[in-house]
Amino acid sequence: MEKTFEKIVSHAKNTGFVFQGSEIYGGLSNTWDFGPYGVSLKDNIKRAWQKKFIQEDPNNVEIQAAILMNPKVWEASGHLKGFSDPLMDCRNCKTRHRADQLIEAYTEGKVTCEGWSKEEMENYIRENKIPCPDCGKHDFTPIRQFNLMFKTFQGTLEDAKSTIYLRPETAQGMFVDFKSVQRAYRKKLPFGIGQIGKSFRNEITPGNFIFRTREFQQMEMEFFCKPGTDDDWFPYWRKFCMDWILSLGGNPENLRFRDHTPEELSFYSKGTTDIEYKFPWGWGELWGIADRTDYDLTQHQNTSGVSMEYLDPYTNEKYIPYVVEPAVGVERLFFMFFTDAYDEETLENGDVRVVMHFHPVLAPVKAAVLPLRKKHGEIAEKIRHELSIDFNVAYDEAGSIGKRYRRMDEIGTPFCITVDDQTEQDGTVTIRYRDTMAQERMTVEEVRAKIAQEIRF
Ligand code: ATP
Repeated sequence: MEKTFEKIVSHAKNTGFVFQGSEIYGGLSNTWDFGPYGVSLKDNIKRAWQKKFIQEDPNNVEIQAAILMNPKVWEASGHLKGFSDPLMDCRNCKTRHRADQLIEAYTEGKVTCEGWSKEEMENYIRENKIPCPDCGKHDFTPIRQFNLMFKTFQGTLEDAKSTIYLRPETAQGMFVDFKSVQRAYRKKLPFGIGQIGKSFRNEITPGNFIFRTREFQQMEMEFFCKPGTDDDWFPYWRKFCMDWILSLGGNPENLRFRDHTPEELSFYSKGTTDIEYKFPWGWGELWGIADRTDYDLTQHQNTSGVSMEYLDPYTNEKYIPYVVEPAVGVERLFFMFFTDAYDEETLENGDVRVVMHFHPVLAPVKAAVLPLRKKHGEIAEKIRHELSIDFNVAYDEAGSIGKRYRRMDEIGTPFCITVDDQTEQDGTVTIRYRDTMAQERMTVEEVRAKIAQEIRF
């Protein structure tokens, strides 16, 4: 079975995980709304991250910084100057393209342009006569840089002084708050500050469904450590991220590490590894893990005039900590888990069932309570209510039991609980397992214990 892009996207839309944004007005391109199952899947991903990266790690804490930050932050971080895409217009058909993407697509990914200058990209495109992907002509304007930050104004005046930006990453919140967190929580190195939140980038080439959008959520952690120990923490976090994905059912065949070559590395980074996923169109970045050295804290110290130094209580040394950063997008993980979970199975009777094999931790609905007949509705509703205190459960009494199982398979509900005559007599129900379709009889209490066990993470 081939998991085509079209199949995955239409399944996400048909089952109500994702809708086109502003749909009744013809949409707003590349914006997506998440329906109830989508929200639940996203929440489960975020909770699983928060649990393993923060809650279970005695070193790490979480913050929520404001999306709107003092513009000086972006001056210090380099985003005002350097956060831009190299754009070229096709003179013939007037379409706009990213020069690096033209080269990467033309060479089928064999050439990557990270670290290339504007001139190098222009020369490569000229020498190889790379054609416009829309009209096939080779007639491009020179490259212009386009800043990816969304601008807006604070207050009533719309002038340069009131210009502010929507944050393009959550990371700067952790750098700016480093000292406050360290002091208020008496943190000793090494420790991490994590954050989950929205980021905005005015991407030139959004697309591939929710893979690249202009508004997305990130889960980032800045792990502060003593210079030198970053050489150990970098591989530690690299492995930690991959293990996290695998423990939630990610298919190892569709995942790989890709180390950035020295030419690709950002000038401040000692090492960067992407965890890539084999999306329906090919390998793409899922998670970036970078050794950012002391670059960001030094920049903020220089720009703000506030010391970012740490006084080591053991050695009395003063230094600016190094930082290892694992940064991932929630929607990319969503897409990845959604694609991995998708399956079409041919049953013994020849029917095909679409089933989402989500890890129970991620499944948006944990269990569905299904009264076999209308008359079992009352007792079934009681069971639904009891279970809903602990879990996200669904209730469905419409259509044949087979159809109802199928609907739950399609959204990846791991357990279906059928209520029948016997339930009224002895309080037992039938539990049906999504993946094997096997059925067992047990009490509601046993069902509750089983679900709790399966979603323990
Ligand atoms: P890309 O090369 O795909 O543009 P990036 O290297 O600019 O990504 P980072 O700045 O490292 O990305 O951001 C960290 C993570 O945030 C990425 O690995 C990705 O999961 C997510 N992310 C970044 N940009 C977007 C976007 N436009 N839409 C959705 N997720 C994004």
